[in-house]
Amino acid sequence: MKGFEYLQEELEAMQKAGTFRRLIPLESEQGSKVIINGKEVIQLSSNNYLGLTSHPRLRRAALEAVEKYGVGTGSVRTIAGTLAMHEQLEKKLAGFKHTEASLVFQSGFTTNQGVLSAILSPEDVVISDELNHASIIDGIRLTKAGRKVYKHVDMKSLEEVLRETQTYRKRLIVSDGVFSMDGNIAPLPQIVELAEKYDALIMIDDAHASGVLGKNGRGTVNHFGLDGRVHIQVGTLSKAIGVLGGYVASTQTLIDYLIHKGRPFLFSTSHPPAVTMACIEAIDVLLEEPELIDRLWENTRFFKQGLEDLGFHTGKSETPITPVIVGDEVLSHQFSDKLLAFGVFAQGIAFPTVAKGMARVRTIVTAQHSKQELQQALDAFGKAGKELGILQ
Ligand SMILES: *Cc1c(COP(=O)(O)O)cnc(C)c1O
Repeated sequence: MKGFEYLQEELEAMQKAGTFRRLIPLESEQGSKVIINGKEVIQLSSNNYLGLTSHPRLRRAALEAVEKYGVGTGSVRTIAGTLAMHEQLEKKLAGFKHTEASLVFQSGFTTNQGVLSAILSPEDVVISDELNHASIIDGIRLTKAGRKVYKHVDMKSLEEVLRETQTYRKRLIVSDGVFSMDGNIAPLPQIVELAEKYDALIMIDDAHASGVLGKNGRGTVNHFGLDGRVHIQVGTLSKAIGVLGGYVASTQTLIDYLIHKGRPFLFSTSHPPAVTMACIEAIDVLLEEPELIDRLWENTRFFKQGLEDLGFHTGKSETPITPVIVGDEVLSHQFSDKLLAFGVFAQGIAFPTVAKGMARVRTIVTAQHSKQELQQALDAFGKAGKELGILQ
């Protein structure tokens, strides 16, 4: 069919530049090892921090939900698609996050879009860290509020913006809790202090912190002892929780408002029973099996140290996300390809996901990896790094 030649041209330019990527399908379930192209490789690219995507308790919860409730809900939440289990999950999440209430969306992405687009008007302003996740950026694009960006985790820059914006009705500071490409943690204690000084609201997106940081994986707010001082906590059910979805944990007022104004909540069908029941089970697993989080951190320390000992540039990560920064985009993809040939799946990530000149292979270890798998991965990194001249 004719019509898309202009897009094809752009794709061909990407192919020439070495930046065109094909999807890499897994031929097995998610895990510390996966099958790609018929070959077993070590998985270092998933967000499956605790291995919950295949946890026996979640599997069983999902299967029982299908048996008892079927596979779909047949409606959006606000018409006929709210099952009792949806409210049960929301109660559980609110309890877990130590907030009054919570509301589940179809994904973390739509949660950010839904919240940001709903609660701000032209007389308000949103103040955003420059490295926030794409879903926050897109949510901000949907508001008619004023928009300000502060330099990445730079509190001087944030305070400058707060000083400049005192005439607005409401100010909302929004930040990732853990930044997904660098693995550093937002300076929440200072953000809270500034927000309280300048009477601003705070929204923290803990997609990469829930299940990872804080007591039983409650996230960065709990990690820093700031329960009750952050107005809006966003989380995903798709990463450490191992299933699918997003949620906002906050006051009853905000939740009631979003039930009326959160557009993805209003206009997109609710989670099927299997997803909902598996998420409920996942929160119980976090509460009852904290050893998973201990193992995640033990593996994190081991792998980070190994990469540093090899001489790689791993940036300023403080979490299980460890970038191996190589700079050049084409080199990062070559590095990833070579690692795959050596039995390690670690994706190259380049512009626009990270800044130009900061291309990297990003690794995430999980609680499921054995020491032996991680050592094998480190050996592959060393060998690939030397062959490509990344290491001396
Ligand atoms: C992954 C991620 C999301 C999106 O979550 P999904 O549930 O996958 O849609 C949102 N915010 C941040 C910071 C993320 O890292």
